[in-house]
Amino acid sequence: MQKSDPPKTYRVKSFGCQMNVYDGDRMGELLAERGIAPAAEDEDADLVVLNTCHIREKAAEKVYSDIGRISKAGRAAGKKPLIAVAGCVAQAEGEEIMARAPDVSMVVGPQAYHRLPQMIDDAVSGRRATDTDMPAIAKFAALPRRRKSPPSAFLTIQEGCDKFCTYCVVPYTRGAEISRPFSDLVDEAYRLVDAGAKEISLLGQNVSAWTGEDAAGHAIGMAGLIRALADVPGLARIRYTTSHPADMDDALIAAHGEIDKLMPFLHLPVQSGSDRVLKAMNRSHTADSYLKLLERFRAARPDLALSGDFIVGFPGESDAEFEDTLAIVDVVGYAQAFSFKYSPRPGTPAAAMDNQIAADIMDERLQRLQASLNRDQHAFNQASVGKVCEVLVERKGKHPGQWLGKSPWLQSVWFEGDCQIGDLVEAQLLQAGPNSLEGAIKQPAIA
Ligand code: SAM
Ligand code: SF4
Repeated sequence: MQKSDPPKTYRVKSFGCQMNVYDGDRMGELLAERGIAPAAEDEDADLVVLNTCHIREKAAEKVYSDIGRISKAGRAAGKKPLIAVAGCVAQAEGEEIMARAPDVSMVVGPQAYHRLPQMIDDAVSGRRATDTDMPAIAKFAALPRRRKSPPSAFLTIQEGCDKFCTYCVVPYTRGAEISRPFSDLVDEAYRLVDAGAKEISLLGQNVSAWTGEDAAGHAIGMAGLIRALADVPGLARIRYTTSHPADMDDALIAAHGEIDKLMPFLHLPVQSGSDRVLKAMNRSHTADSYLKLLERFRAARPDLALSGDFIVGFPGESDAEFEDTLAIVDVVGYAQAFSFKYSPRPGTPAAAMDNQIAADIMDERLQRLQASLNRDQHAFNQASVGKVCEVLVERKGKHPGQWLGKSPWLQSVWFEGDCQIGDLVEAQLLQAGPNSLEGAIKQPAIA
């Protein structure tokens, strides 16, 4: 590889989950600390980081086509941008990417991206570099302090997964479950609030598997962490995602009824309503144990909004088993949910199973499932009309004087009035659409 000038501008393009968004933001901060400025457009960037997701679809092919497009746009603009491939595709297919894509100068896994500055120095001197080690805690310690935060901030508290659902690539790309230390998280929460955060969403592939020791050395879980963060002055709201049903303990359920700052929202994926499919997926719950768990959460917090993830077309899923999934949706009445067609992931047990489901059947099942989920989301929004609630103002709307924010139940609410980004305003919910609600300010700027 040729030597090149040190990059002056960068773009980080993040795909996939909120944890990738968090990682992408942190990479941007690392680069900014090195004096590399964000570029306005892709083609202006001297360094492009593709922060990839490997969970579904033809992720790797998409990376190769993105690499081709970036190189071509660079040539058209008379430059040769440095290209880094990061994230879970980098972890899973790093060596192949290096072999197939000579325009890529760096491949860095999700647990090693704190080493990006050193890798850039190598690339500038003409050396291509790959780093897919997994020293996750070292990564967090090496990241710069955050100086600016949006009103709603992400905070990764846990990474990796030991659950090994048979369809999922995460245990291979993100490694074993690790929890960040309690004191690091409390420090980061204080810094985020100083930097402008009013709400913190705690993130992890299995966020409720977090464990640690509090300041007095006592073993605590998620509920203890949430309690400690609720004491951070200036922090108004706490959320967490994504949880596995196996990790939900009594203390966390009780926390939903006891901690005002913990928002009435729970994302708890079930994946399927069929016990046979759940077993084949290596999920540890049944449809019934999942429903009983939700009942306990609802008893603790009756206005809880529920969210979930679903996979249709898992190998061998029969029509009747798919109907079981529709049935569980009808029983729960989700406020929102994510639904996906099963995607065989190389190296996972389900990819080698017999009875892979045909694409047209998956399409039809997904459409039917999404019709049910959309119906319930709209119904949930309609049932909110008339409520008065706090809305966290996150951005300006399309029209002058219009604002967009989030209700406690994670609904998008738009309204007109006199406020600014980061305010918590009291609003009455007036009208509901499938994806958002219109509100009217009753009392501006609570905080
Ligand atoms: N740990 C969480 C749990 O178990 O509920 C979910 C984290 S996973 C990164 C996000 C979602 O992606 C999963 O809940 C699942 O619905 C979906 N997913 C994972 N692998 C998939 C695959 N091979 N095909 C389709 N969807 C998949
Ligand atoms: Fe993937 Fe979640 Fe299952 Fe872990 S628990 S393997 S992240 S779906």
